Amino acid sequence: MAPIREDEIVLPDEDLILDIELGEDLLKRNQELAEENRRRLREANVRTIDIMGSVGSGKTSLIEGLAEALKDKYRIGMIAGDVTTSIDAERVQRHGIKSIQVNTGKECHLDANLIRKAFTKFDLSQIDLLFIENVGNLICPIEFDLGADTRIVVVSVTEGEYMVLKHPMMFKGCGLLVINKADLAEVMGVDPDKLASQAREINPEIKVVKTCLREGMGLTEIIEALHL
Ligand code: MG
Ligand code: ZN
Repeated sequence: MAPIREDEIVLPDEDLILDIELGEDLLKRNQELAEENRRRLREANVRTIDIMGSVGSGKTSLIEGLAEALKDKYRIGMIAGDVTTSIDAERVQRHGIKSIQVNTGKECHLDANLIRKAFTKFDLSQIDLLFIENVGNLICPIEFDLGADTRIVVVSVTEGEYMVLKHPMMFKGCGLLVINKADLAEVMGVDPDKLASQAREINPEIKVVKTCLREGMGLTEIIEALHL
């Protein structure tokens, strides 16, 4: 197979000034709101974790596992971002965790303004630990700071062997990588250690934990990695 030549690749048009200005304005405004969220969360002593990853990678399973393991230690809340459904908030609610659903409609990510709106549904003084489940995709959520203390990414070996290489920004911006469904690695022909080293090449600081969240495997390591 011949490699793709440069003249066979279409790149985004950097001359579209209108688009760029709009994008920069949007991100700048988001950053201001994120700092405001962060200030409010710190004042209320709420530790906040923004969880990103594709649909089906195991974000909700991770929150359910952490909620079960930690609910006697912390008062936990959850904000679930989804385009239309409230399936994830309901799943976590079943564990006795106060869960707020944010439906983003057309948007494929959460932004700081949506989180600020979700705060009106919480008494922040009544929680110590807040999980935010971002909308399931590996691209734009990382561009929108929500005001969380920690950002983590969950990938599953079922997503194939290239998902780290194809989404470098996501791994650059996260403090922890969870490689889920590790029990299926052999069947899928995906080497979790290779994914881990690809992520470390992009971000030498990133911590990596291999899990099988359905069975609760790896939760203890995640709790340690997050100092929870
Ligand atoms: Mg989910
Ligand atoms: Zn998006």
